[in-house]
Order: sequence, then structure tokens, then C-alpha cells
Amino acid sequence: MHHDTEKCSYITLYQLTNINEPMILKKEIYLENQTNYKAFSINNIKEIPQIQKLSEQELFEIEVVSQVLPFKSNSYVINELIDWDNIPNDPLYILTIPQKEMLIPKHFDKIAKLLKSGADKKTITKAANSIRMQLNPHPAGQLDLNVPSINGEPIDGMQHKYRETALFFPSQGQTCHAYCTFCFRWPQFVGLEGLKFASKQLELLQEYFKVYPETTDILFTGGDPLIMNANLLNNYIEPLLTNVDSLKNIRIGSKALSYWPYKFLTDPDAKELLKLFEKVVKKGKHLALMAHFNHPRELETKAVQEAIRLIRSTGAEIRTQSPILNHINDNSNLWSEMWQKQVSLGCIPYYMFVARETGAAHYFNLSLEDIFRIFKEAYSNVSGICRTVRGPSMSAAPGKVQVVGITEIKGEKVFVLQFIQGRNPDWVLKPFFAKFNSQATWLNDLKPAFGETSFFWQEEYEKMTGQNADSFEYKDLG
Ligand code: SF4
Repeated sequence: MHHDTEKCSYITLYQLTNINEPMILKKEIYLENQTNYKAFSINNIKEIPQIQKLSEQELFEIEVVSQVLPFKSNSYVINELIDWDNIPNDPLYILTIPQKEMLIPKHFDKIAKLLKSGADKKTITKAANSIRMQLNPHPAGQLDLNVPSINGEPIDGMQHKYRETALFFPSQGQTCHAYCTFCFRWPQFVGLEGLKFASKQLELLQEYFKVYPETTDILFTGGDPLIMNANLLNNYIEPLLTNVDSLKNIRIGSKALSYWPYKFLTDPDAKELLKLFEKVVKKGKHLALMAHFNHPRELETKAVQEAIRLIRSTGAEIRTQSPILNHINDNSNLWSEMWQKQVSLGCIPYYMFVARETGAAHYFNLSLEDIFRIFKEAYSNVSGICRTVRGPSMSAAPGKVQVVGITEIKGEKVFVLQFIQGRNPDWVLKPFFAKFNSQATWLNDLKPAFGETSFFWQEEYEKMTGQNADSFEYKDLG
């Protein structure tokens, strides 16, 4: 959208280089103010030139909401993603800039009143925290469910829920280049929860794969692990490349391609990062960047397209995923377009998720009925090559539950569901049925169909976890 001349010169020069030996161009060639990362929050929002378009009232609304929910945007999102002629309805604007409706009126008014009355910081934080506690913030202790241990010692910073895959939360990767307004990990960004997953247990990480040889995959997640510099990331990854034969797949969950593609282009460690990717692949491990894209526009800039090309040139694969969200991507054409663009850029559509019941859920959540309709329409409109995507899927505590269909069986309208991943692998791909409910937005809103009193997996789940299934929707991060 902006500075096309500079971008063109960058691209032309880049194209002269060998794709297998990505040359990172000197910063001077690219536009300084684009390649220098700058974060924006409520404290410096007025430094965003485009923000002058907003009225005092709109700015005040952002200020109110950002007292409760995290707010962080950056120069790339502001200059290259948001369409400022389309605010406040622009999906990319809504993606990182808090909106008034993200708080229910009662909560909004409470904070607005305090701000107007000139209340001190402490009073406002106290009120904000009390609101946050009502937004289902995964309170302390509830995340312990999936923490693995070695010799009885829990490994902080890890979760192991599905047999094959371990989640690892590197302590320095628990923030992001910008914050999504819908993020279910919001409590850690507002300081409500400590970094529960803070982990420096490098040695234990290697040990882990010896104790659990059935684990073939590790997912580095956060926040965004690619907020770390390449050297730090290498410290975590390198020990896994030798002597851990059971580990086959290394995945990195990241939104850096969408929020800061210059990470792979012009950041000081860009070259080193791509070299690290190459090293992983050369060691015979599959490296997958699990890239988070919510809207096709995130795939349109020259920067993201070049970044994708460079990453693929290392032998890494890019798999894409996103929740489906009201106000951002609640439209089947947009999903078809997004998957098609991803495929044409060499990415593999992977998941459409149902958004979780947390934070500003009332603003973003759609009914399972609408979600299924959008998924079905989008899926029907693309060729088989895009249909690697799975969904719509709820990452609930018992497992990843897919809405397979809505149908009528013997006069009863039902949701057809199945586990894509289950806490017990035997549950996978065994269909089960819930009474149709047009208001349902998550698994816990669903009741068994055909007069059954529980789902087939429910009793076992409760035995495994000691949790009542009524609460299964909130107790998981997997
Ligand atoms: S990039 Fe991921 S972890 Fe970070 S705010 Fe967005 S959804 Fe949350």
C-alpha cells in the first residue's frame, strides 16, 4: 500500500539472488521506517499519524478498553495492513486496536467513569482486574492439567496432552509483535497471570524425549517464539537435533509472518534464523512453521510474500491456522480466498478453529451453526488442494473436537462431532452426536442427542482429570 518504489527495488534486487542462498539485503536498501520495528500501545498511540482520523471520543474508547484487555500494535500493522479508509470496521484495524464493544457496557462504563474522574492508576488497575476475573482468564492452577513430569518433577513450561505432541513455552517467547484483540492468552499480556510456562529447563527438554519416546513432535509456542532472536531459539532447538531420534517434527507456532515479516527479511538476525531453519531440515527433522493468518490481506504485502518464499527455501513447511471470528473473518468467501492465496504462496491450510470463551468472546464468537455453515461454504468453493484444512475445531480439554456436520437422524436435529485429537487416542474419529442448539458456541453448550445422559468419552475424561465435564471448556491451552 505504501512506499511501493522502495519495495520494488528491494524485490528486484532480491530476485537476482539465489533462492537457496537467501541473501538478506542491507537495511538501507529497504525503507528505514518500515524495517525498524516500532510497537504502539495506549502510551504512544498519538504518535501514529493515521490515528489523527479518530475523534477524541474514539481515542477515549480505546483508552478505556485497553485498561482491561491488552493493546499492542506495530509499525508494520499500522502502515501496511490496516486500511485506514475503512476504519473503524476494517478487520485488520479490529485485529489489534481495542474497540468499545469488546467490553460489555457495564464494564466499559465502570472504567470510563474512573478515567473521567481522574482516578489514580491503582484504583483503575483494581477495577480492571476485577473485570478481567469475570472474563474467564484461566485462573491460576487450572493450567496444571497437562504438565508432564520426569521422575515426579513437573516440567514447567511444557504441556503434554496428546501422546505424540509436546507443547513447549520458551520463557523468552511469551510476548508477540502485536496482540490480537481476540487472543485467549490475553491474561499473560496484561500481567494477570505470571508467565506460567516460563521455562529454562533446557536439559530437561532433551531428557524429556528419552522418558517419553512416543513423543514425535514438539510445538514451540507462546506468545510468539519468534519474538526471540535466532540465537536464543537456536539454544532451545539445537540440543534436539542430535541424540533425540524419536523426535521427528519441530513446529513453531507464530504470527510473525503476519505481524512482522521483516523478522525474516531485514532484522539483524534474519539470516541466522533462516540458517537455523535450514540446519533443522538438514538434520532430517521436519520443520513446520504453524503460521497464524486471520485474513487474506495479511498475505498481500510484498514483505510477507518474500518472507514466505525465504522460509520455504530453507526446506521448512508453512502450515496455516486461524480461529473464525465475528468482525474479522465471518465470511465464507474470505476463507476460500485465504486458503487459495496460502496455497498459491506455497503454504498448507491446516486448521479453522472455533474461538474460545474468554476475553472479548461476546464480541468475536459466532454460533457453531454459523461457523459450520461458513466452513462448509468455504470448503465447497475450493479445490481439493486447499482441503488439507481441518475444522471447524474446538480445542477443548478432552481434545480437539470437530464439527463434522449438522443433520437430522430419526427426526432429531443433531450436531455430528468427532475428535481430531483426543486425550485418549482411542476417541479419535469416533463420531458422537449432540442435540442441535442454535445458540451453542462451544462444546459445553452441547448436550448428548437421542436421550443419552452423557457423551461416550465423558466418564473416562472425568476419571482421567478429576474434572467435571461441565467445566471442560475452560481448562486447557492445548
Ligand atoms: S499472536 Fe497468538 S499469542 Fe500473540 S496475541 Fe495473537 S493469538 Fe495471542
